[in-house]
Amino acid sequence: MLDWLDGEDYKIKFGWMDKQTFGCVDFDKKTIYLNPCLMLIQVAIHEYLHAIHKDPSEKRTDAREMAEMKKMSSKRMRKLAIRLVRMWSKEEK
Ligand SMILES: [Zn+2]
Repeated sequence: MLDWLDGEDYKIKFGWMDKQTFGCVDFDKKTIYLNPCLMLIQVAIHEYLHAIHKDPSEKRTDAREMAEMKKMSSKRMRKLAIRLVRMWSKEEK
């Protein structure tokens, strides 16, 4: 895939879509859209739920994560994503 990315065939664009869409392809525009913030949010919520429930079970944590993702608004998710990315960029320095 790395070689394919270097080609001119498809463009890759990053950005927030919605709380259910990790990515999509527009065949006509030859563009792949990725929503990395959603991935980051989902993993952060998952690990947060392990921590606050002191529960190592993946099955139970996955269920809690689904419930949490369902009830969290898109606006709140974006806010969380911004905070996490800021924390990440500070860590990178
Ligand atoms: Zn887990």
